Amino acid sequence: MSGSASRISAVKAVTNFESTPTPLNFDEASADEIFGLNVFSNKVMKHRLQKSVFKSVMRTIELAESLDPSVADTVAAAMKDWAIEKGATHYAHVFHPLTGLTAEKHDSFLSPDGSGGAVAEFSGTALIQGEPDASSFPTGGIRATFEARGYTAWDVTSPAYLLENSNGKTLCIPTAFFSWTGEALDKKTPLLRSMKAVNTQAQRILKLFGHKNSALVVSTCGPEQEYFLIDRNFFFARPDLINAGRTLFGASAPKGQEFCDQYFGAIPDRVLACMLDAEREMYKLGIPVKTRHNEVAPSQYEIAPIYENANVAADHQQLTMLILKKVAQKHGLECLLHEKPFAGVNGSGKHCNWSLGNATQGNLLEPGKTPHENMQFLVFCAAVIRAVHKHAPLLRAVVAHAGNDHRLGANEAPPAIISIFLGDQLADVFEQIKKSGTALSSKQQGVMTVGVDTLPPLAKDAGDRNRTSPFAFTGNKFEFRAVGSAQSLSGPLVALNTIMTESMDYIANELEKATGGDISKLNEAVQLLLKSIIDQHGAVIFNGDGYSEEWHKEAAKRGLSNNKQTIDALPALTDPAVISMMEKYHVLTARELQSRQEIYFEQYVLTLNVEARLTHEIAKTTIYPAAVRYQNELACAAVNCKAAGVVFDASLLNKLSELITSLNQSIASLEQLIEEGEHGGHSVSNPQKAAERCSKKVKPAMEAVRGVVDELEGIVADDHWPLPTYQEMLFIK
Ligand code: ADP
Ligand code: MG
Repeated sequence: MSGSASRISAVKAVTNFESTPTPLNFDEASADEIFGLNVFSNKVMKHRLQKSVFKSVMRTIELAESLDPSVADTVAAAMKDWAIEKGATHYAHVFHPLTGLTAEKHDSFLSPDGSGGAVAEFSGTALIQGEPDASSFPTGGIRATFEARGYTAWDVTSPAYLLENSNGKTLCIPTAFFSWTGEALDKKTPLLRSMKAVNTQAQRILKLFGHKNSALVVSTCGPEQEYFLIDRNFFFARPDLINAGRTLFGASAPKGQEFCDQYFGAIPDRVLACMLDAEREMYKLGIPVKTRHNEVAPSQYEIAPIYENANVAADHQQLTMLILKKVAQKHGLECLLHEKPFAGVNGSGKHCNWSLGNATQGNLLEPGKTPHENMQFLVFCAAVIRAVHKHAPLLRAVVAHAGNDHRLGANEAPPAIISIFLGDQLADVFEQIKKSGTALSSKQQGVMTVGVDTLPPLAKDAGDRNRTSPFAFTGNKFEFRAVGSAQSLSGPLVALNTIMTESMDYIANELEKATGGDISKLNEAVQLLLKSIIDQHGAVIFNGDGYSEEWHKEAAKRGLSNNKQTIDALPALTDPAVISMMEKYHVLTARELQSRQEIYFEQYVLTLNVEARLTHEIAKTTIYPAAVRYQNELACAAVNCKAAGVVFDASLLNKLSELITSLNQSIASLEQLIEEGEHGGHSVSNPQKAAERCSKKVKPAMEAVRGVVDELEGIVADDHWPLPTYQEMLFIK
């Protein structure tokens, strides 16, 4: 075996790996018994709360009414008893600060009883409100560090749960996090605000269609999470993976994904064991995980749940990421959630499947078999088309961060141009409306004949799939595919909900005006409105290949934006049209938007600073020494050959020496940029300017170093090469 000592020992450890976790046994406790075991669910509440209290809480959950504070003590007591019976010792308000991560502050239930003992206590006030010190979370100038007050408030609509650890359990309470001025410091607050706005406007449209007493309309979300799993022995031998979440160096493996032998392939045993374990933990927390499969790249996988109310889905998604990481470690694996851990093979996304619906009308984006006759569906669908066309730059902005820049725009993920794929059937319906003001038919699904007598005739979908569109209609929901694998779902959901709200508001206004409340005039009014929407906003519809050169030209002609990088995309967050929309529907204020924009620019700078310093350090202290040792070996060989009177072919030594010179030059350029730049903390004075500098100068300088290093990897003797290679990390398990 070749390879440096550290690589050899990593590979040995990997191949000798033996699983230690106790095998799971679904015979003893079936999946449905486990599901929701650790959730303070509606069912548990119904069982444990007085009827009147339960009803009051359910009004908040199902009708979005304000919580009656007088029930808080009773709910808190029931929650505490339930948690302690199940072995909890602490409780935590869990929130999602603007870093996109999950934060929690733990408190013990115990208080001194005054006579040397302790009693378990949990008051309504402790349930409803917390006050973690907010000073170390980014706030983007919303308040100075000396005004550190930040509050967490119980989000009744997302169930509390118990998080297990081998040494105890913690009662976790989902909360919103805001400053003492009431400004949002988190991802959840605007999401809850946007859920409220969606309902208000959707109700107006449902009313126009004659629905009385329709249930609360919520946006729904079912996210697909892509991720990589690699052995932890390799992970620990790669400082770039540990600190940046992605490889900053690494030549492509001789075999990549070109055989398509990975996608939907048999899941390796060790990985399957890890997945089953993670899914079991998710079941306990009531996360309805449903599908799993191998993804396109080697060592890449996907997990997806059944959709839920978007707010709950977003909380469950954060938990899913935590659990995947935690359980993988138990199995000696590292779960990489970064959008592009390995260059040259596919990166990871988080497809955000999104729709609107309620308990009385069901899914509002369900077209039925003959969509041309389904006016209500066409109205909601047109609202989406208008919303996406008007606010494409906002949708691009909410998926913009350093990690996703490696993915969007490359031929594996959707391009940075935001367009809508409708599929044959719907595209045809809207085409008819555009041409003649009305649609008379819907292309029907056919029957597929496979040419095998023993197979039954199979129903064919009315439209094919399209994998290149960033925003695709997939039967009864839209799939926003540009979301990055590591990011929180909340930003994209807030944007989708709010732009949809604005469009529904516009449509409701128009239809109310045109009909004057007379439902017999509705049909005609809808037809006129659909035609005007498709005339004005149809340019966003594109059913072709989003990767093609022609589309990029065509999109520019159609006036669609193409913001390739984070620095091009983030300015849209404070576009006047975005600010006025967000303020109008009380989702985010101008100040909140500005603070968010500032934080996201700053996060970009911090990320690139870390990557630049790592690139510099690894290249200088790990790669350069390896290259010089090999150079020395070759030079000695040259001297010895000369002494022995045989010819030494110096071409490799020459090439190596040239590369070493290039390496030193590229390291020196990067070093200078690092020294001149601003350094970390919450102290970047002009985040946007700093981000532009990082994107235009630092990033290319890092890429230059990488270019030389990856070339060296193909030349330096394998037993000198210090870092685990792509081939090892992606293929040895
Ligand atoms: P595909 O992407 O192959 O069409 P599915 O139909 O399984 O796959 O859906 C993928 C994701 O979309 C799942 O997480 C699913 O729960 C979610 N989904 C399905 N219906 C809706 C809906 N009405 N709203 C939001 N998400 C949905
Ligand atoms: Mg999908």
